[in-house]
Amino acid sequence: MALRQICTYPDPVLREKTKHVERIDSSIERLIKDMVETMHAAPGVGLAANQVGVSLQLAVIDLSTREDEGQRHPLLVIINPEILSMEGAVVEEEGCLSIPDYSEKVQRAARVKVRALDRTGKPFELETDGLLAKALQHEIDHLNGLLFVDKLSPLKKNLFKRRFKKALAEKT
Ligand SMILES: [Zn+2]
Repeated sequence: MALRQICTYPDPVLREKTKHVERIDSSIERLIKDMVETMHAAPGVGLAANQVGVSLQLAVIDLSTREDEGQRHPLLVIINPEILSMEGAVVEEEGCLSIPDYSEKVQRAARVKVRALDRTGKPFELETDGLLAKALQHEIDHLNGLLFVDKLSPLKKNLFKRRFKKALAEKT
């Protein structure tokens, strides 16, 4: 296992739509292990493959250390995920390992139903709310080239861009 470098905004890899995982081979298994280790070391509760520069539809979520209204969530690996349905709305503070030292309130669906493959390639469906619903939407957005800051109001988006102006100038 090895730690991977986390790509930060505005790295263009974060804006690519990731590709389907066609086969779960040893390189995918290694990628999953590395991503879990990288997420834990950061520390963070979710990481998408394109955040470590691999443009594939794969993400890991670990909320096992977070209190979520009495619910306990084991480590979750999602491969080729799709959101089947969304319900309700919640506004909560969010952050992202690819946008260091920044958090802001964004609106998400309160409840989601997701279909994905697990780390062995077995399909599963999951319907959930709370922190896990939020994390699933955040990570699946990553796999579609979206970041949580895309959800900010125009005013807050401007403030965000001003704050990251230096990083933008360095990378472009
Ligand atoms: Zn993120």
